Amino acid sequence: STFQELGLNDDLLHAITDLGFEKPSEVQEKAIPILLESETDLVALAQTGTGKTAAFGFPMLEKIDIDSRTTQGLILSPTRELCLQITNEMKQYGKYCKGLNVVAIYGGSSITDQAREVKRGAQIIVATPGRMKDMISRRLVDISKIQYSVLDEADEMLNMGFKEDITDILSHTPDDKNTWLFSATMPREVATIAKKFMHDPQEITV
Ligand code: AMP
Repeated sequence: STFQELGLNDDLLHAITDLGFEKPSEVQEKAIPILLESETDLVALAQTGTGKTAAFGFPMLEKIDIDSRTTQGLILSPTRELCLQITNEMKQYGKYCKGLNVVAIYGGSSITDQAREVKRGAQIIVATPGRMKDMISRRLVDISKIQYSVLDEADEMLNMGFKEDITDILSHTPDDKNTWLFSATMPREVATIAKKFMHDPQEITV
């Protein structure tokens, strides 16, 4: 299939052409129609390098209201490197979405600078759990209007001991949001998190 057939808008298709992506990868082909067509939770078993960032990123960019400055999308990832990589990809995918602001929140860098960026209005925040929790407790970020949350590399985040932080962060988001969980493996801890935070998720495996 083509990206056009998956139902993506012209701004995204334009960016996809610029990036030189010829056709959707398997995880994109499976996840994008589900996420575009329904308001659902999703569990996706997919390794890194399969194009999973776009699999959740395109639908998120399509679904959020860019005319609003409210933070509507939250992507949690295990490391600073991954956080910056996802932020960079989301900015490229959304380069024709006028007014889009994607902000990265991660440890080891100025919290004041990150708070200033958030304050300008970020529709999407990409964060590592520790710094995110810190910013929430200091009331430097408001995630009470989140509609879409992504747990990326969920198995890695749990391996790194972020379970409590994730639980705390998600408790500050609305119950009726959609959660999209991506993981390379499905150990019991990931299944437990999925059961605790997700409602009747659709499941895909690549
Ligand atoms: P990810 O698994 O999200 O880390 O993506 C791995 C790499 O594949 C990234 O550099 C993406 O820019 C690239 N990529 C994602 N989707 C496609 C696609 N449909 N065609 C070609 N490259 C892609």
